[in-house]
Amino acid sequence: MARWHPWPGKLGDVTADTPANATTAASDPAPRSRQLFERAEAVTPGGVNSPVRAFHSVGGTPRFMVRGEGAYLWDADGNRYVDLVSSWGPMINGHAHPDVVGAVREAALEGLSFGTPATGEIELAREIIDRVDPVEHVRLVNSGTEATMTSIRLARAFTGRPKVLKFTGCYHGHVDSLLAGAGSGVATLGLPGTPGVTEAQAADTIVVPYNDLDAVRQAFAEYGDRIACVITEAAAGNMGAVPPREGFNAALREITREAGALLVMDEVMTGFRVSRAGWYGVDGVAGDLYTFGKVMSGGLPAAAFGGRADVMDLLAPRGPVYQAGTLAGNPVAVAAGLANLRAADSEVYAALDRNAERLGELLGQALRAEEVPHQLSFAGNMLSVFFTETPVHDFAGAQAQQTWRFPAFFHELLRRGVYPPPSAFECWFVNAAMDDTAFEVIAEALPHAAAAAAAAEPEGAK
Ligand SMILES: *Cc1c(COP(=O)(O)O)cnc(C)c1O
Repeated sequence: MARWHPWPGKLGDVTADTPANATTAASDPAPRSRQLFERAEAVTPGGVNSPVRAFHSVGGTPRFMVRGEGAYLWDADGNRYVDLVSSWGPMINGHAHPDVVGAVREAALEGLSFGTPATGEIELAREIIDRVDPVEHVRLVNSGTEATMTSIRLARAFTGRPKVLKFTGCYHGHVDSLLAGAGSGVATLGLPGTPGVTEAQAADTIVVPYNDLDAVRQAFAEYGDRIACVITEAAAGNMGAVPPREGFNAALREITREAGALLVMDEVMTGFRVSRAGWYGVDGVAGDLYTFGKVMSGGLPAAAFGGRADVMDLLAPRGPVYQAGTLAGNPVAVAAGLANLRAADSEVYAALDRNAERLGELLGQALRAEEVPHQLSFAGNMLSVFFTETPVHDFAGAQAQQTWRFPAFFHELLRRGVYPPPSAFECWFVNAAMDDTAFEVIAEALPHAAAAAAAAEPEGAK
């Protein structure tokens, strides 16, 4: 198995005080990562710039990646991994795709930032509008968090109402008012809520279970004329992949329309990944506002929100709703995003679907062989493994899984050259660069990982 990939040079000061032959124990596969993590912890809270990266729920040492190409990542110790995180979604074409890298290089040579309008912004907005019918106008921002934050501000301004309805386990970035009942790292770390968010900031957030239309109707019956918008992940991916039930999004469309509220489709994760038009291309339910990020960034910091022209035109300078960004529409990030989208043709989307299916089959085979209780859950080409016998439709279902099986499963894969998300509450993201070799590595690793999951015991069982 070609897991150990000698990677020449470029490690620079990473290796300066750790000669390659100074590994502590033969059993430690990542001595350099371990040392780097210690250094990182000395300068950054928890050693990371986004919580799930810290491996808290799986234990062990987060790997410091030094290179990505195609379907693979290499860490500072020279270990090669088949990457099943794809930078949490953006790298649908694989790492360092020549078109994307070329576009970045070309843009950078022309200047890194102007603080003025630039031509690429028009093209990226046009590309998004052409792909998603309900989106008439677009504004570019730097992160998905900014996109959802401003969408909610716009919805409140447009309707003159204060309240926002969101779903438990859905994550919309770290916007104060949207952290209540959030997924992603909030779920991974089991945080009850977030200190620093005031009661006032959370007071106008109504949180109901995902896929529960009765709860939505009840909330509207109670607060209907005060609800500015419903914000939902077009298909939930931040509690693991949990697709909307048949008709769920369409019912949200009807309920909001009747109540005079807006529907904000958060497609930061699904957008331009699950189809050319994102989840809108899957179920065709039109939101009033959309948020995008991840894939449309090409891997650089860029995101967007957009939607109905009459709502978007409330934004300054045309309207009174303020929103701005020093680096918004950054020419290098825009070039990366545009190249990533343009490289994603129908063949790429077919490959993503194929690869997700193939990965799901391998996962299912391995887990069945070891009789590990599990559900494979798909939202388009995003997928998750839940260690439970019961199909998962909401966050309570995701939480009911045997999460204690996950660390052993995860580390066995990692040891064998496969990099899954380091949390039982995140999606696995395939990319189009995965080839037979990548799947061979996965196929060899999975039976061992499944055996480890089968042998795992709940905490305190021993
Ligand atoms: C990742 C994500 C966000 C937040 O985007 P950032 O760029 O991390 O701020 C918002 N919504 C969804 C659905 C996401 O998956």
